[in-house]
Amino acid sequence: MAKGYQAPRGTQDILPPVSGQWHHLEDTFRQVCERYGYQEARTPVFEEAALFARGIGDATDIVSKEMYVFEDRGGRSLSLRPEGTAGIARAFVEHKLAGEKSAWKVFYLISIFRYERPQAGRYRQAHQVGVECFGAGGPDVDAEIIALNMAWYRDLGMKGHELRLNSLGCPACRPGHRQALTSALADVAEELCPTCQGRLDTNPLRVFDCKSPSCGELVANAPAPLDYLCDGCRSHFDALRVLLDGMELPYEIDPRLVRGLDYYTRTAWEVKYAELGAQDALCGGGRYDGLVEQLGGPKTPGIGFAAGIERALVALEKGGITMPETGAGGVMVIGLDEASRQRSVLLAEEIRAHGLRAETDYFERGLKAQMKQADRLGARWAVMLGEEEMASGEATVRDLMSGDQESVPLEGVAGWLGERVVTPAP
Ligand SMILES: [Zn+2]
Ligand SMILES: [Zn+2]
Repeated sequence: MAKGYQAPRGTQDILPPVSGQWHHLEDTFRQVCERYGYQEARTPVFEEAALFARGIGDATDIVSKEMYVFEDRGGRSLSLRPEGTAGIARAFVEHKLAGEKSAWKVFYLISIFRYERPQAGRYRQAHQVGVECFGAGGPDVDAEIIALNMAWYRDLGMKGHELRLNSLGCPACRPGHRQALTSALADVAEELCPTCQGRLDTNPLRVFDCKSPSCGELVANAPAPLDYLCDGCRSHFDALRVLLDGMELPYEIDPRLVRGLDYYTRTAWEVKYAELGAQDALCGGGRYDGLVEQLGGPKTPGIGFAAGIERALVALEKGGITMPETGAGGVMVIGLDEASRQRSVLLAEEIRAHGLRAETDYFERGLKAQMKQADRLGARWAVMLGEEEMASGEATVRDLMSGDQESVPLEGVAGWLGERVVTPAP
């Protein structure tokens, strides 16, 4: 026998019936985005590696350790995308979509690729949904996107998640904070973990991000960006809070919440789900008013968030939320002898033309086995054809949810089913 193959380490196959849960998450996301006026953008799976170094920052773990960088046959240095924002921002700049008083509002559903140590809920090919808005810099946009983010979780039926909010300041007020933070950390530098010692020079803010408990204690009282906001950042943050309060979206201010990426300014948020354990963030978002300019575009404010689909699924499962699986609903057309089996194939095709899912037996099985198959498929209706039905010209139609059964003229069965709303059996 030939050697068997396995999916690469850190990847997973998403197969039926679980793929139905993915559709549910994605469809819900699309619907929410449309309500808020966001449209889908699709950008390449790979980009110039330099785009990510520029847009995310050389000093981040993502760029320095986790990117799938490769040289193509033409000698170009490319990378599989490790996140969604850089590619969207690149497209915005490349297609000159910036305009006076215009906001570009897009969403995406993508695979991302990071060479991480595989662990529970972490994949080298992971999946994200996200939203970006370029061109509008006011707190109203921040509130709208946070509301969209929370509406997705609400529509999914998620419970027990928490919105955490912070402001990271801007280029005007950040140096003051950075100086205060650097001098506070200088006193404890030797006690910080090696990673954080390295961060002191490159991006001291990221010390707040460290998962090491000892670093957590050391920075617990370190100066937070929130205490150093300039007037502009302060009033932006206050206005956002007024809007969130008005929308009755509960949140908690978390002065230690920072983002791992260099381009974030002002508003930052995360949605946490405690039962996920150490990696408890369901999603992260924030404003990045410097990004477009950094990528060679005109000065343009931007804001967005990205959420992992894998983690959302885990959170829904932990919360006991049942989700539809693929294949529920529809009609099983059962033929019991040669003539009725042939008729069942044609009838199934007629039923499909009426917009319903219909299936037939491929293996010449008896009634009992075919009813079992109907059950396995989650069919809502069974249409039975045997010698008697063929002779009388009436099919026996059973509602598998109620068990009710009636005879319907063969010619009219497809239309009869089409008029009934077919809902998945519970
Ligand atoms: Zn500021
Ligand atoms: Zn540390």
